[in-house]
Order: sequence, then structure tokens, then C-alpha cells
Amino acid sequence: MIQKDVLVIGGGAAGFFAAINIAEANPNLKVAILERGKEVLTKVKVSGGGRCNVTHAEFIPQELVLNYPRGEKELLGPFHQFMTGDTIEWFEKRGVALKIEDDGRMFPITDSSQTIIDCFLKEVKKHKVEVLTNHSVKSIEKSGDIFEIETTQGVFQSKKVLVATGSNPKIWQLLEGLGHSIANPVPSLFTFNIKDERIKNIPGVVVNNVSVKVLDSDLESSGPLLVTHWGLSAPAILKLSAFGALEFAKKNYKFQIEINFIKMSFEDCVENLKNLKQRLAKKTVFKFAQFDVPKRLWHQLVLAIGIDNETRWADMNKEQLEALAAQLTQAVFRVDGKSTFKEEFVTAGGIDLKEVNFKTFESKLIPHLYFAGEVLNIDAVTGGFNFQNAWTSAFIAAKNIVK
Ligand SMILES: Cc1cc2nc3c(=O)[nH]c(=O)nc-3n(C[C@H](O)[C@H](O)[C@H](O)COP(=O)(O)OP(=O)(O)OC[C@H]3O[C@@H](n4cnc5c(N)ncnc54)[C@H](O)[C@@H]3O)c2cc1C
Repeated sequence: MIQKDVLVIGGGAAGFFAAINIAEANPNLKVAILERGKEVLTKVKVSGGGRCNVTHAEFIPQELVLNYPRGEKELLGPFHQFMTGDTIEWFEKRGVALKIEDDGRMFPITDSSQTIIDCFLKEVKKHKVEVLTNHSVKSIEKSGDIFEIETTQGVFQSKKVLVATGSNPKIWQLLEGLGHSIANPVPSLFTFNIKDERIKNIPGVVVNNVSVKVLDSDLESSGPLLVTHWGLSAPAILKLSAFGALEFAKKNYKFQIEINFIKMSFEDCVENLKNLKQRLAKKTVFKFAQFDVPKRLWHQLVLAIGIDNETRWADMNKEQLEALAAQLTQAVFRVDGKSTFKEEFVTAGGIDLKEVNFKTFESKLIPHLYFAGEVLNIDAVTGGFNFQNAWTSAFIAAKNIVK
């Protein structure tokens, strides 16, 4: 039986952040991280396309929480304790400078996730946190005040345990055995598979600001849109995939979306097209893209209304103008399946938030059992918000563990 003061289960983002903060706050505590893999921080390594989108330049808690389809209400208090600004300061104090990109995402100035990993490895060494790899946790039990954690390499005992195992079904099962409820895990942050003539041959096309509605649903979003080899992606789609994660899973990822490529009403668009008919009478409709629609997409939308590439604006009848307006403002696409968004994906689901004290991140059911990161039923849209949840929950849990 191996005795420790604090056991952190999971050597990922939340586990490392918590263990470092615990050991730094109280150097007398024996802190160990139990990690099932032979490597640690594997998700940090691949995060943000290898650049690690550490956090987001959003400094108002009330605004920040709006990025969490699950956890919005619960994270408001915690963000008043440890926010994005604190994350920036935490890393800066340890020699890691972050930079802000135009869309608010924040990365290490090195543009390399290895910088974050190196920082964490240096800190665990400095504060004498034991990192035990190849220690997969098989059971968690509590008798009296003491937790007994059985791993593939022996049994550990401690008075305090922090679970930071991400979206690991086995650990959720163990926690269910301890009386916790688990919200059913479903994927979040994915791209939409769409087979459609209009986008088949134009992968790589980006439209800067579209709005997207899911038909027969209240879900809608706006933002940039990217045509991929399989369908559609970029924030307008990824936001929907996060906020609609449960609904889309129920629909087996088969549903219809309506895209407004120019964020204009159908009626205004028809009026604009009538003006173009006057102004550009002798020009071909196909050739000159309008409303800042990318040329390759414009071509596809024009062909979709059944005119050829020689038709002039003057030849367009009322029905054709309306059909073009519909393509521009109400284009319906059938989604059939999803694909992984390689920059970032997460799982919606996890420990029921009603069973967690959000002032401390301690279990309401089992004293001295704490949670941090994706093990909780909290997830966010893409942009650095998922890591911010890991940092905030880990920091607050750590603070209360050392109390
Ligand atoms: C490809 C990709 C890119 C991403 N990019 C970003 C990004 O740029 N920005 C962002 O904000 N978010 C990003 N995310 C999401 C982010 O990585 C997660 O939200 C975050 O890693 C969650 O941290 P965590 O510590 O809770 O879980 P994890 O990082 O998943 O860590 C959990 C750890 O627990 C270990 N473990 C599991 N079961 C056991 C067990 N039984 N015993 C012992 N150890 C166990 C696992 O091996 C793992 O090391 C990305 C996700 C992916 C998949």
C-alpha cells in the first residue's frame, strides 16, 4: 500500500494544472499523478493543431460563460475566482508568453504546444510532484476518511483525491459505482457531412459571415463557414455542433440546415437583384460574383437555379431572380453524418453538475473527492474555452484541497 497526501487521477491538462498548484501552495504535501498511459499531456500535444489554443481573450465572466453549452450557469461563480486573465498571468509568471489572434484565440508565442508541456514538466519537477505513468486506475473506494485507489501497479491510499480523467468511460463507471450520476456522453465539436452538387467541387472556399439555421429546431448560429471535402465546417458549424450536440445525436446526425450566405432577408435580396438586372443588364450573371460571395460558390449557386453560364442579367425573369435570392439567403442542405474536427473535439456528458459544489469543485456526495476538466458535464465551443474550463476547475479544486 503506497501512501500519498493527494492523488490526482489523470495526467492531462487539468491533472497537471491542479497537481502543480497543490504542490506549490503546500510543499509539505506528497502529491502524485496517476496516469494510465505511458505518456502524459497527449491531448495538449495535439491541441489547436499542435499550437495549443490555451485560452481566449474574453475577460468578462458573463460573456465567457456564453461559450459553454453545458456549464454556462455553473461556471459563472468559478470564473469570478479564476479567469482567462489569471491563466495568462499564470503562464507568464512561469516564462510562457501568450499571444492573441484576430479572432480572440490565444496561443503560446512559440506557436507550439510543446512550450506548454515543457512548462508543466518543469513545474512538476520543481515542486516534486510524482508523475506515475502506466498507472491505470481500476477501482476507487473509500473507507472512513481514506481513499483506496487500485492501479495496474499497486494500491495507493490518500485522504484527498482529484479526478481529472477527461472523457474516460471507465472512470465514469467507477464514479457511478460511488453514487454519482453521469450525463450520457455524446460527441461535440464536429463538422457536418453533406453531399451536395453546390459544394462538391469547391473545397477550401470560405464565406466570412453566414447565418445557419437548423430546420425543425431552434438552433441557429453565425460566423465564418468553410467548405471541406466532406461538407461544411468552421465556427458557424462548430458552434451548432456544440450547442446541438444532444439534439443531433438523437437525430442520428441526419437533419437539414438553411444557410443565409449574405445575411440579408430574402425580400431585400430580391430587390438588390432587380437593381443588378438594371445595372448589369449586358453582363453575364455567372461571371461576376455579387454580395462578396466567393467566386467559386457564386458559380455553384447560379448554376443551381438552372441557368447556363451565358445568361445575362437582362434575361433573368422574376422566378429566376427569386430562385437566386433563395440560394443566397435560404439555401437548404441535407446533413448526413459528421466528421471529426481535427483541431479540437470534445465530449459532451460527464458527472452531473448538480452533484458538484462549484465553490470548491468537490463532490457533494463524497467529501474530499474533487473533479476538474472534461470529466464533468461541461464543454465549450472551439476557441480555447475547453482548456479554460480545465484551468479554472483545476485551480479552484487545488486551492480547496490544500485548505
Ligand atoms: C485534437 C484535439 C485538439 C484540442 N484542441 C484544443 C485547443 O486547442 N483548445 C482547447 O481549449 N481545447 C482543445 N481540446 C479540448 C481539450 O484538449 C480538452 O478539453 C482537455 O484536454 C481536457 O482536459 P482534461 O485534463 O480534463 O482531460 P484529458 O486532457 O483528456 O486528460 C485526461 C487524462 O486522464 C488519463 N486517464 C484516463 N483514464 C484513466 C485511468 N483509468 N487511470 C489513469 N489515468 C487515466 C488519460 O490518459 C489522460 O491523460 C482539444 C481536444 C482534442 C481531442
